[in-house]
Amino acid sequence: MELSVVIPVYNEAANILVLYQRLQQAIRPMAIAYELVFVNDGSTDQSLALIKQLAQQDAQVRYLDFSRNFGQQIAISAGLDKVRGQAVVILDGDLQDPPELISALYAQWQKGHDVVYARRKTRAGESFLKKSTARFFYRLLTRLTRTPLPVDVGDFRIISRKVVDTLKQMPEQQKFIRGQIAWIGFPQTFLEYDRPERHQGQSGYSYSKMIRLALDGITSYSNLPLKMATVSGFVVSGIAFLVMLYTLYSRFIIRDYVPGWSSLMISILFLGGVQLIAIGIIGEYISRLSENVRNRPLYIINETNIPEK
Ligand code: UDP
Ligand code: MG
Repeated sequence: MELSVVIPVYNEAANILVLYQRLQQAIRPMAIAYELVFVNDGSTDQSLALIKQLAQQDAQVRYLDFSRNFGQQIAISAGLDKVRGQAVVILDGDLQDPPELISALYAQWQKGHDVVYARRKTRAGESFLKKSTARFFYRLLTRLTRTPLPVDVGDFRIISRKVVDTLKQMPEQQKFIRGQIAWIGFPQTFLEYDRPERHQGQSGYSYSKMIRLALDGITSYSNLPLKMATVSGFVVSGIAFLVMLYTLYSRFIIRDYVPGWSSLMISILFLGGVQLIAIGIIGEYISRLSENVRNRPLYIINETNIPEK
């Protein structure tokens, strides 16, 4: 098996047949042995039925069906657990990642790059809010960490068997695959493309899912927020100490009896805010720690046509 394509699918019924055709047209001319691994992430529409139909007609189509919606990152991880290819492409099911780019990705992989990611030159049809929050997030994450994350890059990429096997050894429950791959290292390069609009249907990413992904990315990638909580604690205590000296000075030396209600309120509110933020940051890490300690399976498979190894 030379090439595997992993496709997370959440309510993509309107896209699957077109996607399949375009994948076939793109990969067949490459004349290599390949498989298409669809991971149905708890879709509530006809997605699974369509995938099973394809699998009946075409032995190269394999699928995993989750017991419920686990999220795109976990769907990709499950696909990676099962693929057999020497090179693996990760691709969205809504045709925002054009299958026509696969041969170019594959060619770069053949030149010896373990990771070839596709960088978005432009993004059509996405809201200003989505683009600007994404932009802010990746710039923030690059600041927070020592292993820089490529900017304007999603999960669309080709990775080598070496990278897949390394990913399988990373057991954390909060998956942020593009971050993990950046952390792994190995020779990496990129291609550029213009990202089209989603073909049909609606984005499966609500803002709450996006925020969860962002927090997973930050917490699994960097401990800097924890350190910032400590540092801000020291800074605020330092300021408080200076203010205390000044208060004593004005009380006993200048004998100045100003009723300091506003300064009191401000410092109480300020301190309370800093403490709550710090506790919140710690909470984000602790909740993830406890999820990992519980050690549940990352996903639950309802049905598949992939035989156990
Ligand atoms: N997806 C998924 N589970 C989810 C949400 C999305 O598997 O809970 C899949 C979806 O079917 C698509 C890919 O992840 O193949 C990207 O999702 P989407 O296009 O909805 O996100 P956007 O491009 O709007 O960020
Ligand atoms: Mg999309």
